[in-house]
Formats: sequence, C-alpha cells, structure tokens
Amino acid sequence: MPKLIYLDFASTTPADPRVVQAMQPFWSETFGNAASNHALGWQAKQAVDEARQQLADLINAEQPEALFFTASATESNNLALKGFAQANVAHGRHLISQTTEHSSVLGPLRALEAQGFTITWLNPDEHGRISASQVEQAITPQTILATIMAANNEIGTVQPIAEIAAVCRRRGVAFHTDAAQAVGKIPLDVCAADIDLLTLSGHKMYGPKGSAALYVAQRKPALKISPQLHGGSHERGLRPSTLAVPLIVGLGEAARLAQSQIQDDMVHGAALRERLWKNLQQLGVSVRRFGDPQYHLPGILSVGFAGIDGEMLFKSLSYLCLSSGAACASGSGKASHVLTAIGVPEALARASLRFSLGRPTTADDVDAAAEQVKVALQQIR
Ligand SMILES: *Cc1c(COP(=O)(O)O)cnc(C)c1O
Repeated sequence: MPKLIYLDFASTTPADPRVVQAMQPFWSETFGNAASNHALGWQAKQAVDEARQQLADLINAEQPEALFFTASATESNNLALKGFAQANVAHGRHLISQTTEHSSVLGPLRALEAQGFTITWLNPDEHGRISASQVEQAITPQTILATIMAANNEIGTVQPIAEIAAVCRRRGVAFHTDAAQAVGKIPLDVCAADIDLLTLSGHKMYGPKGSAALYVAQRKPALKISPQLHGGSHERGLRPSTLAVPLIVGLGEAARLAQSQIQDDMVHGAALRERLWKNLQQLGVSVRRFGDPQYHLPGILSVGFAGIDGEMLFKSLSYLCLSSGAACASGSGKASHVLTAIGVPEALARASLRFSLGRPTTADDVDAAAEQVKVALQQIR
C-alpha cells in the first residue's frame, strides 16, 4: 500500500514539534487565568505578553498591543469587517472587496449587505490580481473600508496590498487584509505597508488550531471597532473571553520559528513546487497552471487537466491528501468560485487540483504525488 502523502498545507499545517513543546507546561502546570491577580495568573500573563511580542515581531507591528488574540482567522475577519462597519456606519455604508476572497470574508460582507451596507465586488485579472487603481476607482464619499486578501488560498496569487493600502490611506478609507495564507510564508511588514487591520491564523503557519489574531494599527485617533462578543474586558474589551494561554503560547512560538526560517521555507517551497510542476508537465496530458506567474506564494501549485473528469480524477487519488477545484465547496460539486472568477471554464475548474507544499514536504513526496496523478490519469482514460 502506498504511503499517504500530505500536500494540503494551505488547508492546515501540522503543529511544529517545537510549538507543541512550548505549549506543554501551560495545560496543567502554569494553567492560571491570565486575568487573575496572583502568581499563577501573572505567569500566564507573562507568557501571553511574550507571545504577543513574538507575533508583533513577525509582522513588524508598531507595538505588541496592536495584536488581539482570537480563536480563528474566521473570527478575526468577522470582527474586523462587521466590527469596523458597525462602529463607523455614521461615516458611510460602502465597502470594497473582490470576488476571490475566502468564505470567511465573503460571509461577513454578505451579512453586512443584508444589514444595508453596499459592497463593490472587484473582479481580478486572469491571474487573480487586483490593482490599486481598481480599488481607487471604486472609492466613493460613502466608502469606509476596503478588504483585499494578502494571498489567495486556492491559487496562491499575492496582491499588491501595500499599494492598495497607500491608496486607501490617501483617500481616508480604512484597509483590512486577510493574511491567513501570507503571514509566516512571505515577508510582511504592517508598518511599511501602512495596513490598518490584518487577520492571521495559527494553524496555517505550524501553530495550533484555534489560535489566531487580529492586528489593529494603533492610530490617533484610534480605529473604532465594535466587539462582536460582549462580556469582560479581556483584550481591552475588543474580544472578551478567558485567554487560551497554551494556544497563544503556541502561536507565539510558531511566529518566532516562521520569522527565523522564512527565507529557507520560501526557497524550499518554491523549489519543490517547480519540481512538481515539471513532473506534471511530463504526464502526457494538457495541464494548465493557475495564479500569477510573478506574484505568488512559494508553496501553492494550482493546476487544471483539460478534458479530464475532475471527480473521477480526485477520487482516484486516494493516497494523496490535497484539495480539488471543487473542494472548497466540498461535496457540493460546485466549481471553485476563485477559478471561475479568473475565467477558468467550469469543466476545467472541476478538473483542477491544488497542491500545497509545506516545511516537511520532500522531493520524494512531490515525485510520488506526480506518480499517483499519472496512475490515476491512466486509470480513468
Ligand atoms: C484558512 C483561511 C482562513 C480561515 O482560517 P481559520 O483560522 O481556519 O478560521 C481565512 N482566510 C484564508 C485566506 C485562509 O486560507
């Protein structure tokens, strides 16, 4: 029986063993509530402060207090989008986004539409890129916020977020970016890029599931965001809930590791991705690569096989853990909204595969993956 090969790191990553080790003492030994005013509480608070600093260092935040811990990127996106829109409704009811966002951005924006906000949905080019001038042209006197993801989870396209943020800043519009796929994968500097709000997630960067954060630039006057949970004063009232100290410590360690090896990780990912692409081109079928040839994440390879039944192909890959172009709406059989948004025909979108490579991926893994695709293609033809 062939061994299982995991090439779905854009869906989730394993926690790095060093992350698991860093978390260990905080389950049953240093288990205090970080809000408690006694020795165990102080120890927990100190660990949380350190993690906040590690996260701030990774994205070059102006101060650790700009980071607010949440339970997921989905939660951070909801807090940023609904929280900002609700707190700033007096200034306008118009937001700008684009069609290839993750469902955790599309969902809250649709909820805002139902509440009377208007969203302009920009269309990316055939590589999935949005330009700063597209955003600028969509700005009206009613616009309060633009949200454009830093990097796409399906096709890996990296957006010009610094340019978009600059346009927004000049026009008095706040800018949010869902950077769940970008943080720890490509260099990102919130100060240099002048970003107002940024979402990140622990389990996409070798941290624990259930750990995430929202970066909120510490401006004067302060950016206004309405909390989406009401309760205590944790995270300065923006996100009440007892802090998940072990998960936060794990996120901090994951940030530290990402920062220390981001260049190595990028070189490793890009080299294996190109090796995989070369392998796939030698299978004797017509294969097309999606995403931007220049601006893309190192570890994602999204491809479509022309004239192939996508469902049969995906089902034949039983020893390969990866996502298909119909997977994000898994089970529904609908083609990916990202691929259709960049003009990929429905059938080709269905016959597409997203390989996402990670830190533990080896050359043997990608060679064996290509071999499995080859066998699957032979079987279904
Ligand atoms: C995975 C992902 C999310 C959701 O992250 P969770 O922490 O699982 O909620 C949001 N946006 C993008 C781009 C993602 O890849």
